[in-house]
Amino acid sequence: SGPLLKVENLTKHYPLGAGFLKKTIPVVRAVEDVSFTVEPGETLCIVGESGCGKSTVARLLMRLVDPTGGRVLVDGTDIAGLKKDALRVSRRRMQMVFQDPFSSLNPRLTAGEIITEPVENFERLSRKDRKALAADLLRKVGLSPEIMHRLPSEMSGGQRQRLGIARALALEPSLIIADEAVSALDVSVQAQILNLLMDLQQQMGIAFVFISHDLSVVEHIGHRVAVMYLGRIVELAPCDALFANPVHPYTEALIAAAPIPDPERVRLQVPLEGEIPSPVNPPSGCTFHPRCPLAVERCRVEVPSLVSVADGRVVACHVRAPACGTNDQLSAADH
Ligand code: SF4
Ligand code: MG
Repeated sequence: SGPLLKVENLTKHYPLGAGFLKKTIPVVRAVEDVSFTVEPGETLCIVGESGCGKSTVARLLMRLVDPTGGRVLVDGTDIAGLKKDALRVSRRRMQMVFQDPFSSLNPRLTAGEIITEPVENFERLSRKDRKALAADLLRKVGLSPEIMHRLPSEMSGGQRQRLGIARALALEPSLIIADEAVSALDVSVQAQILNLLMDLQQQMGIAFVFISHDLSVVEHIGHRVAVMYLGRIVELAPCDALFANPVHPYTEALIAAAPIPDPERVRLQVPLEGEIPSPVNPPSGCTFHPRCPLAVERCRVEVPSLVSVADGRVVACHVRAPACGTNDQLSAADH
């Protein structure tokens, strides 16, 4: 059995506005050549600063937008090829939890109606069955069944996010995509929701693609972490290895810049200077080169490809993970 989710060379370019001459319309390079897999029961985190393309990856996975290139395979099936009915079935297997539970939940429906709605899109439930399902889902996410008659506006932020999770669980998915699912919550509530997600993973074997800008959240919940910069994955590594020993200069800078609760931890020395460049006109070569203290001439001209290094990690950096494959050998033979 292969991976639950396989993403191959996923790319999304948006035209920016409309121009008279098609070829002069600037293009936002939101996602560039992104590949990764997710195993059953695994949590893959995608981390990066805002605007790095994380949320676009989430929308591409859910097929809320169509890719410019590349493929998304769920259980080996390319979801782009699915017709409406088959897509509905594949969507049962993948559910999404959003950042702001308030805006993603219908304010006119009660909690019970909200969480049973996904099931009722597939089958009619009797009043009794709907009530039983709602009570069961509410208990799963640590809420009292009595809450099923309340409106979202009558609930706290943490309760609403539990409701969003209950709704995602209704169809018993194998994969949940969570986009900044705890970012809007207080730190203490964040920890409760993260622990709930980890418990649900233990009990039900659910895999997560967990998207966050917050490294402390990622370190808490992740099995593997993909670091994105300007639409590309620059490092993908087991969570422990990534935090103990970041290889890509951008990963190193991100970790160095993050507030770290553990005072024992040694801070790394790469400062993260300057703004993120626009994805409309990204820098040539390695797009991190204008901010990178290690940049060499090659970085300005050549896009580094992801290279396997130690402990199941891939890194795209000419200096820290130089490619020693065919390209170099070919160019050496040219001389
Ligand atoms: Fe820095 Fe060059 Fe590595 Fe990019 S490829 S991260 S610019 S050293
Ligand atoms: Mg986002």
